Amino acid sequence: MDRAARPSLTNLFDLSGCLAIVTGGGGGIGLGIAEGLACARADIVIVERGDTTQALERLRLFDVRAHAINADVGQESDWSRIVAETVERFGRIDILVNNAGISLAKAPEAVSLSEWQMIIDTNLTGAFLGARAVYPELKRRGRGKIINIGSMTSWFGGSFNVPYTASKGGILQLTRGLAVAWGKDNIQVNAILPGFIETAFARRAKAAVPDLESKVLARTPAGRWGDPSDFAGIAVFLASRASDFISGAAIPVDGGYAVQL
Ligand code: NDP
Repeated sequence: MDRAARPSLTNLFDLSGCLAIVTGGGGGIGLGIAEGLACARADIVIVERGDTTQALERLRLFDVRAHAINADVGQESDWSRIVAETVERFGRIDILVNNAGISLAKAPEAVSLSEWQMIIDTNLTGAFLGARAVYPELKRRGRGKIINIGSMTSWFGGSFNVPYTASKGGILQLTRGLAVAWGKDNIQVNAILPGFIETAFARRAKAAVPDLESKVLARTPAGRWGDPSDFAGIAVFLASRASDFISGAAIPVDGGYAVQL
């Protein structure tokens, strides 16, 4: 093999020239992922409903181009706009991270149909709509990466968040189905399953479930809650050539929570 063709860490993980869309990238895990991808030199589009000023400032510190699109991932028409605006501005899409997610702490018998639909629309339908919207562009380029964010509730039941659990279980099967359907197009589709991570989302869960903090600490071999920066490495791996023969996988990033008896 000639020297130039040998794998090197640079060509395995380098995302120079790539464009990644990260939904919910304005804060929390999404921003941790976006910063990881920017560190590997990808340009970033974050899709958010809220303010993105600080997130864009942080991403630009990596000397990449960063842009925000105000949109709701559960709306089909918003996805047409997200793809059109991204392609117009950057000329390409290489990576989609379906990260935006919401939950609701409530006993299942008290959940209304509109609450159920809001959670499924955002967490599961949003990921499907995003994947479907970027597919033509990934196919046209002859390669692509889709990363879906699941949860420990993709595997385990939670009594206080049944619609969320159903949506995150669905994320696993969406990931596997798309991995099978689009393998022929050289598109890899994988899921990351976060454990318990210190974000605004987690702070809301802790307020609603008083013993959550101590239960999580007791079960997590790492002895701590996760931080959004814990997602930078796995995101770069799943977005880069280093993972070209990995598809349909679900990788926990949980400090060992899922393997504790
Ligand atoms: P945050 O609440 O901190 O971030 C979620 C982001 O998604 C927010 O920026 C929110 O912004 C955005 N968002 C929500 N709904 C929509 C929508 N309809 N359209 C566009 N953006 C939206 O949560 P985390 O960072 O903690 O969570 C990120 C992902 O990780 C979620 O999918 C969550 O389910 C998952 N997860 C988190 C865990 C944790 O412990 N933190 C554990 C397991 C999984 P805005 O509302 O302003 O639009």
